[in-house]
Amino acid sequence: GQDRSRDGYLMRFRSLMIYIKTDAEVELLREANQLVSKTLAEVAVHIRPGVTTRQLDAIAEEFIHAHGALPAFKGYAGFPNTLCTSVNDEVVHGIPSDYALREGDIISVDCGVILNGWYGDSAFTFPVGEVKPEIMRLLTSTRSSLEDGVKQAIAGNRVGDISHAVQVRAESAGYSVVRTLVGHGIGKHLHEGPEVPNFGRRGSGTRLDKNLVICIEPMINMGTKNTRTDSDGWTVRTGDGKPSAHFEYAVAVRDGKPDLLSTFEYIEKVLTKR
Ligand code: MG
Ligand code: MG
Repeated sequence: GQDRSRDGYLMRFRSLMIYIKTDAEVELLREANQLVSKTLAEVAVHIRPGVTTRQLDAIAEEFIHAHGALPAFKGYAGFPNTLCTSVNDEVVHGIPSDYALREGDIISVDCGVILNGWYGDSAFTFPVGEVKPEIMRLLTSTRSSLEDGVKQAIAGNRVGDISHAVQVRAESAGYSVVRTLVGHGIGKHLHEGPEVPNFGRRGSGTRLDKNLVICIEPMINMGTKNTRTDSDGWTVRTGDGKPSAHFEYAVAVRDGKPDLLSTFEYIEKVLTKR
């Protein structure tokens, strides 16, 4: 998620430019985002009680390098690792560590790559072993809110149509939408314009033009929408310690229907084999 408060003014100005891609550029972005999807599936293979988030990070970094790409987050604004690993009440931007996952945890794994100069960015929240039904429901609803948002990513709509669709699905399930972090355009920069909030009014905001590529990434909390940032300057957590879920796709805006550049199919294959 793009942090709306962190970026300096000039960086923000530059990074929030909107770039409409050519068809060929959309295909390059598809390659980068497919690699992210495959990296998340490789990480999924290793998610179980006892594995440390640092081990998952190493697996992702090696996989990305082996496929001729670079980890996009490592060094981005000083972020130290390849993955953001955010456990339980951590919303996003968790730093991989020696924390060993426990049965019943959930972990958002957010991954970015640079392939041939183009960025990929996607996230998935995994259950670790057996997870309480109420927490599984949070994961399912967050993913559904993403799918609802994606359906609005068609030429002629506005950003607010996506935002509204995500918000309605999440809030009607009884959850709250994080306000301080948003989705974003993506291309030769990790974060481009427009910002894609997960809340808003239908018909408002930037018009979605054909071949705009955006990351839609609902961050949905079981309790309060409020968040706080740890003293490490990165880890965002819920204000009340209740769990949070995060799913992210990159999608190209097209005429009539959205074109997903990311997929969770590789992850699903891993999860259903268990
Ligand atoms: Mg993102
Ligand atoms: Mg991401």
